[in-house]
Amino acid sequence: MKRIHEENVRKQAEAAKTQATMQAKSDKLDEQIKKNQLKIQKQQIREMRHAMKCPHCHSTNVKPLGVHRKDFSLGRELMWGYGSGSNGKATKKTDFVCMKCGKRFVK
Ligand SMILES: [Zn+2]
Repeated sequence: MKRIHEENVRKQAEAAKTQATMQAKSDKLDEQIKKNQLKIQKQQIREMRHAMKCPHCHSTNVKPLGVHRKDFSLGRELMWGYGSGSNGKATKKTDFVCMKCGKRFVK
């Protein structure tokens, strides 16, 4: 009887150890995924700027304004909006102005 108990304790300890290792692995993976997501998001922002077209004259010569918060630079605005997500201050919408026809639009 005692032997079985010891066996169980050993198995439990092993299981806990495996779980801890797996947890550490998944933590590392989470970090990696987060980093990758950030990279992808940054790339998406870059691509978005490239693909952005004026709805009035269809010119791609548009400039993001980011007028939601005047005190902050556009870079920080984008970082807050896309990077953290937990910060409710920044909106995902950005104001753009067309360099060709001068009209503003929100994307
Ligand atoms: Zn335009």
